[in-house]
Amino acid sequence: MNVLVMGAGQLARMMALAGAPLNLKISAYDVNSAKVQHPVTGEIYPLTLEQAVAAADVITSEFEHIPYPVQEICQASGKFLPDSRAIKAGGDRRQEKALLDAAGVANAGYRIVSTEAEFQAAINALGLPLVLKSALAGYDGKGQWRLKKAEDAAAIWADIAAFMAGADHTLPQAIVAEQFVRFDREVSLVGARNAKGETVVYPLTENHHVNGVLAVSTAMDADASLQQQAKQMFDAVANELNYVGVLALEFFQVGDQLLVNEIAPRVHNSGHWTQQGADTCQFENHLRAVCGLPLGSTALVRPTVMVNILGEDVVDPAILSLPSCHLHWYGKSKRAGRKMGHINICGSDARQLAERFSALAALLQPDSFPEVAEVAAKLQQSLR
Ligand code: AMP
Repeated sequence: MNVLVMGAGQLARMMALAGAPLNLKISAYDVNSAKVQHPVTGEIYPLTLEQAVAAADVITSEFEHIPYPVQEICQASGKFLPDSRAIKAGGDRRQEKALLDAAGVANAGYRIVSTEAEFQAAINALGLPLVLKSALAGYDGKGQWRLKKAEDAAAIWADIAAFMAGADHTLPQAIVAEQFVRFDREVSLVGARNAKGETVVYPLTENHHVNGVLAVSTAMDADASLQQQAKQMFDAVANELNYVGVLALEFFQVGDQLLVNEIAPRVHNSGHWTQQGADTCQFENHLRAVCGLPLGSTALVRPTVMVNILGEDVVDPAILSLPSCHLHWYGKSKRAGRKMGHINICGSDARQLAERFSALAALLQPDSFPEVAEVAAKLQQSLR
């Protein structure tokens, strides 16, 4: 089967690598260059978007910020999975919040804000602190503000107004003003739904962010009731969208309650550990779902930690001498903060994983991997 992916980054690349054993041919459309290419070799195919769409059996995407005109071409083909409604819900926080409400899943209280008067009304209704997020073009902590004190409201609004005026959007921009959640930790659930409505989910993953960007994910056997709560929310959102493919839900955990922070209608960074830690990796399961193949087992085979490599194109090769340590580069040129690759490290149980992760942490430069020492200490502590 020919699968065309909207977006030609690392997620399309890892789909291509996972699809090869199934004889799935993956090509990728780079929305910036408007070129169709091989997602691993970068070879350019002499095809227009329309020609590539016509040649594809299935069209899917690796990110949610796909220009609407491109989405329309994909949607009109009848081969776009997940479909445009799901992609738009992932790319516009207004639609995302409406989806979460329609699915009946808990999320932080919010107001949609377009004017200063609405901003003031949101402050009065929701209280402080507030997290302010641009409805469009916001991801990895970009386009976000925190309002802690009422006296800072005017200055923050000036900043937001400048951001909204400066953004080059063909769609009306707005802000989602959200109550600040004092969470105990951030977790995510990655799962897949097929066209028959069957769903499978991986174990909940604990996530650590640095400046709003995922740094480390840990996957172990999850608490059964929390896993069940997350699965119910996953099913509610996926069913509401009649979703086909891999979907990720990011949560705030407060006590034993989960609140959905955001959704990603695609394979997700917090699911990269599945390449070494799960029976079937998320990339293969996404392809299985969109190609109409049976879904694969999402069982945790061994506890795994994933570490993102941000803004670096070199790590000490000695990490590969650690047992069950795997390095995945994305073949990208170096840029500050850019997602360049990731490391997966596994253990047969929590103790072995903690030991191996400490050994890995010792080989990584603390400046480039500021989160690993803390996660290593946390893993050691959880054994006591
Ligand atoms: P997001 O782009 O929505 O995932 O936000 C990036 C990060 O900001 C999240 O991973 C959280 O650590 C933090 N954050 C976002 N929204 C809230 C909120 N309502 N309350 C507390 N922290 C938040």
